[in-house]
Formats: sequence, C-alpha cells, structure tokens
Amino acid sequence: MGHQHIYCRSVFLLLAVGVFFTLACNRKSALENASEIHARLFTVDSHVDTPLRLLRSDYNLGERHEANQGKVDFIRMREGGLDAIFFAVFVGQRELTDKGYEKARKRALALFSAIDSSLNRHPNLASLALSPEDAYRLEDEDKRAVFIGMENGYPLGKDLSLVKSFHDLGSRYITLCHTKHNQICDSSTDDNGPLHGGLSEFGKQVVAEMNKLGMMIDLSHASDQSFYDVLKVTKAPVIASHSCARAVCDHPRNLSDDMLLALKKNGGVIQMCILSAYVKTPPVDAKRDSAVAAFWQRNENYDEMTEEEQKRVWQEWRQLNRDYPEPLATISDMADHIDHIVSVAGIDHVGIGTDFDGGGGLEDCRDVSEMPAITRELLRRGYSVDDLEKIWGGNLMRVMREVQSLSAQNI
Ligand SMILES: [Zn+2]
Repeated sequence: MGHQHIYCRSVFLLLAVGVFFTLACNRKSALENASEIHARLFTVDSHVDTPLRLLRSDYNLGERHEANQGKVDFIRMREGGLDAIFFAVFVGQRELTDKGYEKARKRALALFSAIDSSLNRHPNLASLALSPEDAYRLEDEDKRAVFIGMENGYPLGKDLSLVKSFHDLGSRYITLCHTKHNQICDSSTDDNGPLHGGLSEFGKQVVAEMNKLGMMIDLSHASDQSFYDVLKVTKAPVIASHSCARAVCDHPRNLSDDMLLALKKNGGVIQMCILSAYVKTPPVDAKRDSAVAAFWQRNENYDEMTEEEQKRVWQEWRQLNRDYPEPLATISDMADHIDHIVSVAGIDHVGIGTDFDGGGGLEDCRDVSEMPAITRELLRRGYSVDDLEKIWGGNLMRVMREVQSLSAQNI
C-alpha cells in the first residue's frame, strides 16, 4: 500500500515535471519563432490616417520610407507582416452649416479618389477589400488588402442618402464623430458641454442605415452617452476602431470597464490604439504643451492649405518634436491594456488599430515594419497562437462578417 502510494507520487511528480518542461520549452520555442508565427497570422490594422499623405503627390505607397517620413507604405507593411489595413477617409470637424457640410463632402471625395489612384498605381502590391473574404483572398495572393473606413460622419451633412454613396465608394465603417460634436452625436473630447446629450435623431437614422447597408459603426471618439445610445438602437455588433482601456490610462477617448462589458454583450470589438497619450499618461511638459497648442493655432486652416504649405507644416511638426521630444509609451504598456481588456471582456473582443499617421506610434513600434514586436510581447505574456489569431484580425473579421450578413438578411 505504502509502496504503491510512493510509486503514485513519483509518477505524479515525474508527470508534473514533464508538463512543466514541455510548457516552458513550448513558450521558449514560441518566442524563438515569434517572427514565423507573426508571418503566418492573418493581421489587420483597423485604423491609419495614411490617406492624408496621399493628398500630397510625392508620397508613393510603393516606395519604402523611414518612420519619420510616414509610418505606412506597402513595402513596410510586407516587412511588418501586416496583411490588411483600414485607410481612414478623415475629415476634421468644422461648423455644422450647409457650407461646412459641402466642403467636408468634397474633402472626403478627394480622399477616396487619392486612395483609388494609389491602388491603381500598384495593382501588384495591393487591392481594395470590401469584405473579409476579399482580404483573405488577397493574403493568399501575397497582396496587401486595403479597406476604407470614414473617420467622422460630418461629410454626410444631413443627407442620409450619402451613407450609401460612401458605402458604394468602398467605405466599410464610419466613425460617427471626431474630436468635436457633430450632427450625428456628441464627442468624448468636446469641451463645450453636451450638444445632443448623446446620439441625435439624425444619428439614429444613420445607425439604422448603416445596419441596413452592412457598414460597421465605429464608436471611437464618441462620448460615453453616444456610445450607450448607439448600443441601444443598433441591430449589429459595433467596433471602436482605435481606442484603449480607461482603467489602465484615464483618458475620455478610452473605454471604461462598464463600456467594455456592454461591448462584449453587443458582440463587438475594441481595437487597441497605440497613440502614446491614450496608452500611458505622458509626464507634464508645459513647454511642449504650449508649443503644440501654438502649432495648432498657427495651422488651424491646414485643410485649405496648398501642397507646399502643408509640406511646411509637416516640417514644422517634425522640428517641434525634435525641440520638445515626447517620451513615448512602449509595447509593454500597450500589452497591459490588452491584458486588462481580455480580463474584463474576454479574448473575443479585442484587436489592434494603430492610428499610424494620425499620432500612433510607440517607443518600440514606430512604424508598420515593427509590428512583429507586438506578437513577440504577447507570446512572452503567454498568449497562444489561437489568441493571437483573434487579436490580430479574427475578431474584427468576425464582426465585419456578422454586420454584412445581417444586412444581407435585410434586418
Ligand atoms: Zn482618431
């Protein structure tokens, strides 16, 4: 009896030691193979502002740039193992007047056409994607898949029929608002007090129309009340294309735990933004802050500037960053957000949306070529390949497929 007991214990110990070593070795080899694992994954970045650069005739997506010239091109997407990307048709918020709406609509159309020209210029490197199936097919063809998402519903004005027009131009999501309130909903960063107290009546119609057309509703930038209002009326899952966790970094652009739980219930996904100030609160730097404020004031009318003038603004911005360098958050800080979101909402509701060329970039992930470092850190933290597949694109493609199939069923 006693012998048998000792025998059992020994077997158990041997097994335990075996399991431990197997796990440790698996972890070690997963880390060693991080680059290979990353290359095999289907990867999507749900938000970059690169099209702003495409309005300038000299930015060629088929050429390799340095990180300080621009964070995305097709060459570095390949190097960084990024298969698919959402190019933002971004229009800054101006006055809510017919004249303002008209200007915004023209600006949006110029961006759609700049994306179109860039894709036509490089048919062997990339193509427009309109569905998850398109993106997976392009991955097989070793081509980059370019989705389009509109950042800011401002260009819709009060014309509901434009939702379909922008859908037909290729847009597959609309971020309902940007940094200020608009005709659709209140923003999370407008200091002027609520305008609608959440989603407007017109906003409700926009949500219904997007559900009908199979476009994803993007709630990044929306105020908390707008977020909850949309969840009440949408018939399809929603996304936050570039936002982080407020419990880890207290910023109104980030989602609270309660919002993460509501998003889980809705079946949606939050795509981790790597804009440093949303990842980690920067140390107070009064000199930089006032230089940045003065810069924005000087260049308020950026949208109306000539190409030459806009070039000068970019130079000025680079100089400002050399004069007042900002300490950036790291991939490890970003992974803290992912850990938190997974602990609150689970592995099925998180993805990645960098905001490259719109302020996104970390100390150790400065451009799209450095994205494998994110996979390496997540493997180091014990995420499995299955988890990584979900984070890097599976979750977002699931939501997109569901949004599109609900539309096909004529909800
Ligand atoms: Zn944004």
